[in-house]
Amino acid sequence: MESQEILEVRNAVRKFCEREVIPQQKAMDNNPTLCRELMQKLGETGFLAPTIPEEYSGMGASLQIGTVISEEIVRGNPSLALSVGAHSILSANTILQFGSEDQKRKYLPKMARGELIGAWGVTEPAAGSDVQGMQATAKKQGDGFVLKGNKTFITNAPIADVVVAFAKTDPKSISGFVLEKKTVGLTLGKAIEKFGMEGSPTGDVFMENVSVGKDALIGKEGEGFKQIAAIFNYERIWGATLATGTIKHCLNTALKYASTRKAFGQAILDYQAIQLKISQMYAHLTATEAMMKELCSYPMTEPDFHMKIAASKILYSKWAVDACSETMQILGGLGYTTESDIGRFLRDVKLMEIGGGTTDIQHLIVARGLIKQM
Ligand SMILES: Cc1cc2nc3c(=O)[nH]c(=O)nc-3n(C[C@H](O)[C@H](O)[C@H](O)COP(=O)(O)OP(=O)(O)OC[C@H]3O[C@@H](n4cnc5c(N)ncnc54)[C@H](O)[C@@H]3O)c2cc1C
Repeated sequence: MESQEILEVRNAVRKFCEREVIPQQKAMDNNPTLCRELMQKLGETGFLAPTIPEEYSGMGASLQIGTVISEEIVRGNPSLALSVGAHSILSANTILQFGSEDQKRKYLPKMARGELIGAWGVTEPAAGSDVQGMQATAKKQGDGFVLKGNKTFITNAPIADVVVAFAKTDPKSISGFVLEKKTVGLTLGKAIEKFGMEGSPTGDVFMENVSVGKDALIGKEGEGFKQIAAIFNYERIWGATLATGTIKHCLNTALKYASTRKAFGQAILDYQAIQLKISQMYAHLTATEAMMKELCSYPMTEPDFHMKIAASKILYSKWAVDACSETMQILGGLGYTTESDIGRFLRDVKLMEIGGGTTDIQHLIVARGLIKQM
């Protein structure tokens, strides 16, 4: 059973989504301005970046409360949840975990309130899964650095005020930087048209001789890869909320429809073939919730944490896609139309098998970890 605190937060976010998000699901598609407006409204409620500590104007919520908030936003619109996740779990969280006190005081309060929107740039046109293969460089110049290179597929880039970007400070090591939109040489590209997650603007980040002071460096020089790996762990916990939110939505939709839709003289819910699909979704939901609970309390410093989270991501990503596909099947022709939102969810959550490290890469992480343990 959920605690009173969790129930209250869940209800508050659900009400926000019923009022502000669900009615705008379609309007959000390819509408970066609306995405930004909704993120700002979430900022006013404190739900935009809830795990930011109170001393930096956040809610100071636990990771578990953060996952509940995210799950409810997913049920409102996965696109909004993606943009919120990139802002809070990737961008603000990198500053929180590794930034200097000055960086935290400068950016986190405004990011918690939604006055500044954040993006997180690792992926490049020629380096996605192979993070170490990134080509962007940050060369020392005087007391600061000059950054050159391009990032692609960056969530929130078209609406961002702050970009946490990674570049090579020497051929073998990566460093993280916090860049402000107004910095000369930094250009944020237009929203790229996508298969799903249409309400979440994705774009390029162009860095053409971006000159910054040493105060833009996050943590120490050369620590970027470690920072990226740590933030991937958070991202993969957060990813489980995309699965739980989606599977819950699918279960509700499937049960409601199957109990009223009749075929051959009875409700389709009475047929065992339909019941099996529904019970399978429930089994996957239960397993994902259990994994998420364990991962929220498992010390991230344990050497096998990255294997556990990678293994979980393989499963929950597939289960979320399966739930959408099976729900579409239960809804028959209606499921294939835009009158139902299941097609939208299916397109949105397919990203889970690609973003934040593809399923193939999660398999590699697990296998390499097992071999190392031998
Ligand atoms: C909507 C969206 C939002 C995104 N948001 C962000 C963001 O905010 N920030 C950010 O930095 N990035 C973001 N990304 C990028 C995303 O993380 C990458 O697309 C992803 O990591 C895969 O990289 P890639 O596209 O370059 O594919 P590639 O790395 O080129 O992979 C292509 C295929 O090869 C497979 N493959 C690669 N290497 C191996 C291997 N060693 N063994 C087996 N198979 C392999 C992959 O699994 C995949 O199937 C986003 C992407 C999308 C689509």
